[in-house]
Amino acid sequence: MKRVAILGGGPAGAFAAEQLASAGLKVQLFDEKLAWEKPCGGGLTYKAYSQYPFLIENSTTKRIVRETVMAAPGAGEVSMKLHDPLVIYSRFDLNNMLLERAEHCGAAIEKARVLEMSRYGSGWQLRTNAGIADADFCIVATGARNPLRDVGTELRPQDAMAALGYYVPGDQARIDIQFLPGLEGYIWVFPRCGHLSVGICGKGEPAARLRQRLEDYMTKRGLSWKDSRFYSHLLPSLDAGSWRKNRVAGDGWMAIGDAAGLVDPITGEGLYYAMRSADLAAQALLAETHSLAEKLAHYRQLLRRDFMADLELGSRLAKRVFLGRFLCGSVPARMVQFTRRSPRFSAIVQDLFSGRQPDIGMSLGLSRLVPRRLTAKP
Ligand SMILES: Cc1cc2nc3c(=O)[nH]c(=O)nc-3n(C[C@H](O)[C@H](O)[C@H](O)COP(=O)(O)OP(=O)(O)OC[C@H]3O[C@@H](n4cnc5c(N)ncnc54)[C@H](O)[C@@H]3O)c2cc1C
Repeated sequence: MKRVAILGGGPAGAFAAEQLASAGLKVQLFDEKLAWEKPCGGGLTYKAYSQYPFLIENSTTKRIVRETVMAAPGAGEVSMKLHDPLVIYSRFDLNNMLLERAEHCGAAIEKARVLEMSRYGSGWQLRTNAGIADADFCIVATGARNPLRDVGTELRPQDAMAALGYYVPGDQARIDIQFLPGLEGYIWVFPRCGHLSVGICGKGEPAARLRQRLEDYMTKRGLSWKDSRFYSHLLPSLDAGSWRKNRVAGDGWMAIGDAAGLVDPITGEGLYYAMRSADLAAQALLAETHSLAEKLAHYRQLLRRDFMADLELGSRLAKRVFLGRFLCGSVPARMVQFTRRSPRFSAIVQDLFSGRQPDIGMSLGLSRLVPRRLTAKP
């Protein structure tokens, strides 16, 4: 296998292109927009930049945020100094940096929309709006709205959530996280360079209802949404039962990032998993001892061992985290109260923000790790 086509140039596709081109493969990446402001908070956790230090050690414009305020109905708010800060990029800048790195390693980057992929002998023929291209293997990185029906995750309504928000002129030093009654999701306020990204994600609610919730919150907070730019997109959030049959690889292709449904079902974090899956796909593809079928199986195995089992468990726990009850109160309210009172619990929540501890550990910890003295009625 010599020629690899990468369909999509977001974080997943661009990082796969960098890995494969630097290993000497002939890589051609297609993206219909190239670098663009994809609707996204743009937040990268410690888990991401400790695994890939270039994500923090670079000259690209970014915000380093060291404080977060978490709030839930009936519990007020709690402020935390983050020992592992969150790094926030505009998605144009992040995508641009990753595409430049791929190009620097020898990948050919083409601005074109892939319209169709069809088997051609043992390889592929791709039809794009700029012409025809051939490849021996395809990496599918076309994101959550993957238009290519036969490859990548089949997102059914129960496997996705709406995520939408506004880019609001203004600045603040901290991140805000607001839980809402009866919502399997949350509101965020992320400070970015020159503006705030204020958004909401939620499973099982129509986008119009989420938008109303967000606008009510913004009005209360004095954040103007009327003159701000609106954004919305789909966020994969696989149902617990969907992971086992999730289509991450098939004959002549592997899917990575959102196109493979690889997003944390509790936090909505997808950037790390986009890049990590790109890395694992490249490792599997470059493993010399494997036949093509073995490479595909190897990729599935690497995903499962590395993080997919955690995401799957997260899917089972998401409802409990957002909608569950604990000691006669909602779980989010208890989380805010315990974080305020217990340095130990606060450390657990910090680890959740940084990605040092998988969500599942945190979620299970709600009942197991809360110190006894905090179980008295608040
Ligand atoms: C509102 C919102 C907020 C979010 N906030 C965060 C956050 O703060 N932190 C975090 O970690 N994650 C966040 N996420 C998730 C994160 O945005 C995604 O997980 C991440 O972008 C996935 O990267 P990707 O490369 O797989 O897909 P994408 O970034 O979607 O890239 C896919 C690329 O494929 C291209 N493409 C699609 N179809 C074609 C085609 N047919 N031909 C050519 N090109 C094509 C597109 O132009 C695009 O550039 C958020 C998501 C949403 C919706």
